[in-house]
Order: sequence, then C-alpha cells, then structure tokens
Amino acid sequence: MTTSASVPSGSGAAVEGGSVTDRLVAANDRYAAAFTDPGMDARPVLKVAVVACMDARLDLHAALGLNLGDCHTIRNAGGVVTDDVIRSLTISQRALGTRSVVLIHHTGCGLESLTEEFRHELEMEVGQRPVWAVESFRDVDQDVRQSIQRVRTSPFLAHTDDIRGFVFDVKTGRLREIDPA
Ligand SMILES: [Zn+2]
Repeated sequence: MTTSASVPSGSGAAVEGGSVTDRLVAANDRYAAAFTDPGMDARPVLKVAVVACMDARLDLHAALGLNLGDCHTIRNAGGVVTDDVIRSLTISQRALGTRSVVLIHHTGCGLESLTEEFRHELEMEVGQRPVWAVESFRDVDQDVRQSIQRVRTSPFLAHTDDIRGFVFDVKTGRLREIDPA
C-alpha cells in the first residue's frame, strides 16, 4: 500500500518520547482539558451506521462531513460484512435507532494482496487454523456488491431499504457509488 496522498496531520498525538500509547494518552490529557459534555444521547443523530475498512488513510468523519454524535462507525480489515458486523448493525438499528447503512471500501486495500492462503500460512506457523475467513478479494466493486447483499439479506436487521455501497479513492478523496445490481 502507498501513502502518497498529502493530508494535513493533526498535532494531537505529536509528542516527543515515550511509546506511541504514551503519546495518545498525553493527547487525551489535552483533549479532556478542553472537553465539555455535549449532552448527547447515544442514538446517532443522522440515524446512520457506516461500515468501513480500518485503513489509516480513510478519515470517515472528514470525508463524509460527519460530526460527533452523527453516526455509528463499524470498521474492520476490508470493511467486510462479517457476523460481528451484523451483530453491531443489529444493535445499532434495534437498540439505538439507526435506519440507513453506508458501506465503504477503498482503492489500494491491503486485502487485495492477500489470499485465503494466509490462513494456511498461519496454521503452518502456529499449529492452528483460524476459524475466520481472510475475506480477501480481487475486485473491489464486486466485494462492495457482496457486502450490500449480506446486509440486505440479514434476517436480524429491521431496516434494509436504505443500504448503499461506495469505493473511496485514497488518491482523490472521492467516493464512487457501486451499483448493487
Ligand atoms: Zn482496506
């Protein structure tokens, strides 16, 4: 994966010395010092859940114009709709009132360079095969379509009429919508 996009980095975690976690904790000290309780309810204001890849180049709130409290964000390697993502979406909809689902994959995803052979290699190394699939893919558009389909056909979700899928271009910052058909 390349990181050629130039994005201004926040000064939040830029502290000299210590481990990276020490830097994060120091940044939190500054964050908390300026923090005021927004008095929000746990239910997302925009009634939307966003499922996206964990890729470090994807700043969901900035890319989608989201503010604190607007949405649920559910992220994993690939933005894959796994059973655990369905678990989170089910709770998001049935306990916390969301109705829309936005799925976001992206260009240059690390999962495009892996195969299910990764599981076999793990088994050879540690003597145990993981129960989970790698969920690698070759065609990002097709993978978004499959993700849309997994959400649409879940028996647990209360709302499946507003599910849309996109590919985020890490070079331009632009979303491209995927036709689910
Ligand atoms: Zn990715």
